[in-house]
Amino acid sequence: VAKNGGRNQYQLFQPQLKTNADNYMTLVSGLSSALGRGELQLHFQPQIDLPAGGVYGAEALLRWHSPELGAVPPDVFIPVAEANGLIVPIGRWVLEEAIKQAKHWVDRGCQEFVVSVNLSAIQLRDAELAEQVAGLLDRYGLPSHNLCLEITESTAIADVETSYQICKALGEMGVKLAIDDFGTGYSSLAVLGRFPFDFIKIDRSLVRDIATNKKDLAVIRSVVALARDLGLQVVAEGVETAEQHEMLRGLGCHEGQGYLYGRPMSRDDMDAYLQRKGCCGQLGTA
Ligand code: C2E
Ligand code: MG
Ligand code: MG
Ligand code: MG
Repeated sequence: VAKNGGRNQYQLFQPQLKTNADNYMTLVSGLSSALGRGELQLHFQPQIDLPAGGVYGAEALLRWHSPELGAVPPDVFIPVAEANGLIVPIGRWVLEEAIKQAKHWVDRGCQEFVVSVNLSAIQLRDAELAEQVAGLLDRYGLPSHNLCLEITESTAIADVETSYQICKALGEMGVKLAIDDFGTGYSSLAVLGRFPFDFIKIDRSLVRDIATNKKDLAVIRSVVALARDLGLQVVAEGVETAEQHEMLRGLGCHEGQGYLYGRPMSRDDMDAYLQRKGCCGQLGTA
């Protein structure tokens, strides 16, 4: 292989390149028709109130089943959607679906249920976002405190002034705000103090080894202390074991999310989950 150097490398590499480019083009063209063809779906992952033990709310997580590519993970297609502007109509659809669904659960007696939606940096650059959210809350009759918007620091700082104004407007409306993936290096203390957050979501990379890694444990302990001083609640992501659950509860984390409590599931499965487990502050049968 090495002997004919350049030529062989070219021949070996070229099909690979072409495949990647083809895949990318399939991704882009597939994604642009995904909404219209009904290939997008929201799944919901339960969030548990750690002191009380009930279901506090759920995070909406986008799923795409492409006929050509199969199930494409959001870590793959969201960046593509962000790069070509498709995230705008997709993000609007996600917000509407999540609000519609939140209203359904509130009406079924989960009055305090909070549905969390991930926002992209592109959405936080659109000065009309707060109005758009207000319009959707109004149209579906959902109280603003039943909605939480999750943003990462990289999202917030893409255009600090605009995103700050949007977050401020959303906060004043009563919509909850969370800083997502805290502790991954994309989040910092500066943004924490400046933006009107209600929740810090500790990234699952910090939660994973708490049973064995004293340093990760110390970091989480100080995040909880900081959150208390700032008047914020702490959500731990990626809780997979009963041991992690006990430790996080003992440390004073307010909410937990992870496979231990439930994987992201369809809204029908979430309905059944809530029937089984009840929800925090539920009226009637629990
Ligand atoms: P995220 O917002 O940090 O969401 C949490 C991710 O962790 C989800 O991955 C969830 O399935 C996964 N997860 C939850 N519990 C566990 C656990 O116990 N163990 C492990 N190993 N993983 C767990 P998912 O659904 O693949 O989403 C990945 C990312 O894609 C999200 O990270 C978010 O940044 C982005 N995303 C998803 N839906 C949307 C959306 O509607 N809009 C935007 N802008 N981004 C989205
Ligand atoms: Mg999130
Ligand atoms: Mg996260
Ligand atoms: Mg993440």
